[in-house]
Amino acid sequence: METQSARWKRFTGRSRPYVWMLRFMKPYGGILLLLVVCSLLMGLGELAIPKMIGIIIDRIIPANDLRSLNRLLLVLSAVIVVMLALTAGRNLLERRMKEYCSRDLQLLSFRQLRRLGYAYFENTPSGETLNLLRADVSAVQELYRHHIPNMQSRGMFIVLCIGLMLSLSIALTLVSLGAFLIYYFIGPALDRKTGLHRREASDRDNDYQKQIYDTVSAIAEVKAYGAERWVFQEIDRKYQAYSRQWLKMLAYLYRSESFRHFSHYVGAAILFIAGGFEIRHGRVMIGEFITFLLYYYSMMGFMQAFFGSVTEQRMMMVQVDRLHRFIHLEPEVRETASPVHLEGIRGEIAFEHVSFSYLDGTPVLRDFHLTVRPGERVAFVGESGSGKTTVLKLLNRFYDPQEGRILLDGVPIRSLSLQQLRESMGYVFQETYLFGSTIRDNILFGNPQAAEEEVMAAARHAAAHSFIEQLPDDYSTWIGERGVKLSGGQKQRISVARMLLKRPPIVLLDEATSSLDRENELEIVRSLKALQGATVMTVAHRLSTIRDYDRIVVMEQGSIVEIGSWDELMQRRGALYELWKGSDEYEAG
Ligand code: ADP
Repeated sequence: METQSARWKRFTGRSRPYVWMLRFMKPYGGILLLLVVCSLLMGLGELAIPKMIGIIIDRIIPANDLRSLNRLLLVLSAVIVVMLALTAGRNLLERRMKEYCSRDLQLLSFRQLRRLGYAYFENTPSGETLNLLRADVSAVQELYRHHIPNMQSRGMFIVLCIGLMLSLSIALTLVSLGAFLIYYFIGPALDRKTGLHRREASDRDNDYQKQIYDTVSAIAEVKAYGAERWVFQEIDRKYQAYSRQWLKMLAYLYRSESFRHFSHYVGAAILFIAGGFEIRHGRVMIGEFITFLLYYYSMMGFMQAFFGSVTEQRMMMVQVDRLHRFIHLEPEVRETASPVHLEGIRGEIAFEHVSFSYLDGTPVLRDFHLTVRPGERVAFVGESGSGKTTVLKLLNRFYDPQEGRILLDGVPIRSLSLQQLRESMGYVFQETYLFGSTIRDNILFGNPQAAEEEVMAAARHAAAHSFIEQLPDDYSTWIGERGVKLSGGQKQRISVARMLLKRPPIVLLDEATSSLDRENELEIVRSLKALQGATVMTVAHRLSTIRDYDRIVVMEQGSIVEIGSWDELMQRRGALYELWKGSDEYEAG
C-alpha cells in the first residue's frame, strides 16, 4: 500500500510543472485581478437578468404596472450595455495576459536554448526543438488566456448560481444537482477520450510536419536518388494517419456534445415536472420558476466550462511537462560562477591526460597529452574517426572531458568565462553555414565593428575577393534562398575571411579547406601567416598543405601515435609516412 506521504510526494511531483507554468502569471497579478473583477461583474449582470425576468412575470405583468416595466426594461438595457463593454474589456485583458506570459515563456526558452549550447543541438533533431518552441509553447498559452481565468470566474459563478438557486427553492436545487450528476459521470470521461484522441492527432500532425521538413531539407538527395515516389508515399501515409486520427477525435467530440445536450434536456424535463408540482402546491411562483430554469442553464454551462478546462489542462500536461523538462535541462558545459579573466591571451594550450567519450560512452580520446606553444602551428592527421575534430571541440568547450584538463595560458579553460574562451578562438568548421544575408554581413559576423577596408582585406587574404568582385552586387550580394548560390569552396573562403576578420589569438581549422582546389587551398594556408603570432590548430585533409607546420600530430583511435615536424616524421618512416604513401597526393607526385 502506498503511504500517505508517498502519495503526497507523487502528487507534488506531478503538479510541479503545472505550478511552474502558473508562476509565469505572477508578475501580471494586477491583470489577473482585473480579469476576475470583470468576470465577476459580468456574472452578476448575467445572473441579474433572470431575476428581472422573474419579477416582470410575477409582479409587474399581473399588476399591469407599466411604469415599473419601463424602468426595469431601462435597467435591463443598461445592464446589457455594461456587459457588452465588460466582454470587450475581458477579451482584451485575456489577450494581454496571454501575450505577456507567452512572451516571457518564449524568452526563457530561447535563453535556455543558448545556455544549452552545442551538445544539445548535436543530440536533438532541429525538428524537435522547433516543435517545442512552436507547437508546445502555443498550446500552453491557452492556459493563460482561457483556462486559469475561466476556472476562477466559473468557479465563483457556480457557487453564486447554486446560492441563488437555493434561495429560490431548495427542493428544485437538489433535483437539478441530480441532473448535473448524470452529466458528470459520463461527460468528463467523453471529454477525456476526446482529449486523448486530440493529442494523438497532434502527434500524428507533428510526424507529418517533420516528414515535410525532412523532405524539403533533403530535396537534393531525394531527387538525386530518384526517391520521390518513396518520399511522397511516406508523406501520404503520414497524412492519412493524421486525418484518420483527427476524424476519430471528431467522433468523440460530437458524441460528447450530443451527450451534453441530452443531459441538459433530461435535467430540464425533470425540472419541469418537479417545478409543475411545486407551482401547483404554491411553493414557487411561475416567474420564480423561469428564473430558476435560467439559473439552471447558466449553472450547467459554467460547470461544463469548468470541468472542460480541468480536462483540457490534464491533456496539456504532456506539453507542460516537456517544456518544464527542457527549461530545467542542465547544460553539458557549465559556466563557472566566478571566472578568471585573462589579460592578453598568448595562446599557449595544454591538454593534460585528457580522456573523453560522448554521451553514448564509447571512449573517443584516451589519455591525450599535448602542449602547444604560443604561436605554434600544429596539424592533426589520422584516419577518419580517430578523434581529431573532438580535440578542437573540447578546446572550444563544446564538451568537457571526463578526465584530465585543458589549460589556456596556464589557466584551466573551465575557469574562464565561455565568452572570453570563445572570443579568443576563431573556429572554421568543416561545413560552413552562411546566413541568408549579404556577403558583407556574413564576413562582418566575425567582427561587427570592422570597417569596409578590413572586410576587403580579410576577403583578399582568404582568396575570396576576386570571386566576390565578379558577383552582381559584389559585397552587397545576397546569399541563400533568393540570392546567389555559392559553391562549397566559395563558402569556405567566406568563412575563412570571417575568421581572419576576427583576428583571434587562436585559430582552429577543421578540414576548413577541403572543398578547395589545391591552388586556393595553398593560398589560404599562406594567408594564415597574416595572423602573425596566432596559435593554429588544424585538422588536415590534404597532407601536402601541412608540410611547413611546426608539428604534425598523427592520431589513431583517440591517442597520439606520432608527433614531430614533417621532415622528422618522413625520415622516421612511421605512421605519417604510411599515410602519405597511401594518399592520392603521393601518387600524383
Ligand atoms: P575525426 O575528426 O578524426 O574524423 P571525430 O573527432 O569527428 O573524428 O570523431 C571521433 C569519434 O567520435 C568517431 O567515432 C565519431 O563517430 C564519434 N563522434 C563524433 N561526434 C559524436 C557525437 N556528437 N556523439 C557521439 N559520437 C560522436
